[in-house]
Amino acid sequence: DAVNAYFEQIERVEGDVHSFVTLDREGALKRAEEVQKQIDEGTLTGPLAGVPVAVKDNLCTKGRLTTCSSKILENFKPTFSAEAVCNLEKAGAVLIGKTNMDEFAMGSTTETSYFGVTRNPRNLSHVPGGSSGGSCAAVAACESPYALGSDTGGSIRQPSAFCGVVGLKPTYGTVSRYGLIAYGSSLDQIGPIAKDVTDCAAILEVIASHDSKDSTSIDRNSYVNRGVGIKESGMDCPAGYDFMSALVNDVSGMRIGIPKDYFGEGLEPEVKEKILAAVQVLKDKGAVVEEFDLSLVQYAIPAYYVIASAEASSNLSRFDGVKYGYRTEEYEGLHNMYKKTRSEGFGAEVKRRIMLGSFVLSSGYYDAYYLKALKTKALIKEAFDRAFERFDVIIAPAAPTTAPKLGQSLSDPLKMYLGDIYTISVNLAGLPGISIPVGKDSKGLPIGMQMIGNCFQENKIIRAAYTLE
Ligand code: GLN
Repeated sequence: DAVNAYFEQIERVEGDVHSFVTLDREGALKRAEEVQKQIDEGTLTGPLAGVPVAVKDNLCTKGRLTTCSSKILENFKPTFSAEAVCNLEKAGAVLIGKTNMDEFAMGSTTETSYFGVTRNPRNLSHVPGGSSGGSCAAVAACESPYALGSDTGGSIRQPSAFCGVVGLKPTYGTVSRYGLIAYGSSLDQIGPIAKDVTDCAAILEVIASHDSKDSTSIDRNSYVNRGVGIKESGMDCPAGYDFMSALVNDVSGMRIGIPKDYFGEGLEPEVKEKILAAVQVLKDKGAVVEEFDLSLVQYAIPAYYVIASAEASSNLSRFDGVKYGYRTEEYEGLHNMYKKTRSEGFGAEVKRRIMLGSFVLSSGYYDAYYLKALKTKALIKEAFDRAFERFDVIIAPAAPTTAPKLGQSLSDPLKMYLGDIYTISVNLAGLPGISIPVGKDSKGLPIGMQMIGNCFQENKIIRAAYTLE
């Protein structure tokens, strides 16, 4: 019944919103029946059993199209599923479809998709944000109760803010990246997108796992055993895989930091006003709020675009028309085949990143750009380390504005990159961040507030976010 109900809603709104690249009603109904049988037999329990889910199209799903919203993977059906998807399936989740995204997750509006744009369900003439715009739009439009997204520089938090839903980017290494088609491997994390904080915590508990197939996956339980994150500043915050226990409506004594540098020039007054109002609510509930200096974040955008593009240029070299995906029809020799396949298969934004990434990695420029960006990344991490000696949670906007109109961002890539100002330093430092809705602007577009925690301290941001629900 749940699957049918969501597909009825999809039929009503999908023509306008276009959240999905592929939908599979038949497969979902069949799977729901099997799951129901297991639930009836008592062999399957848990909050996600029988619940539909939508998954971003850069997560591999066995035997089902996984396109990264790119022509080059238009017909690609993986032979295995991503670990996060397997974890969901073990918990009885029912996959209803794959969601639209910016091509290879490069973008902030879901407009670089080869399969056309997704529209913001709150206002169809605006973008849903990106790159997980399809996942966020699907949740906002009630086409799916929750979804998975990926976040390299804000791609879960920013579209969640634009669509008025909750999105969580976990600490790097928490959710296995096995089967996530890589963009910037040292930055990518998979995370949940849902209607509320409770659902996000429940989903994270299912998808997070230690996985030997991902060499950067971390056994969070070993951190619990070493006492990391436990009862710091009186906040009970185990570092392991128990996120539901953080759903406590109490922030008394919680130390909240407001980086001055995130509330200055460039931030739309209406966004600022709504965020500061939410901060006041936390204060009224007993949190201790203090401003502080985080000026190093001004270097986050150039550092991020150098590192992310460098990694992308290397990761995307596998799409050569030989092993899988699109191959050009006519060619003369191997090199010409590579060249034509990649020229025809990738969109403009992806090509821009590959060129930029190859340039900053090339000999003669490596030290000046790539190495410098890595050093900047280390400094930003240190600045956050120092801040978290004083604070439990840092609060920032998720984006400087509400969702822009369709077509506005593509003409000016630099302006689009600047919109990532509040989210990307979190990826550079590997930290967890959550975006929650805190109201609307005068046009009725949602405003998102971001809460950032120290590594492995998801529980603090979940608790602070839950208190505002
Ligand atoms: N907008 C950023 C970029 O284009 C972030 C995207 C992401 O997090 N995948 O790289």
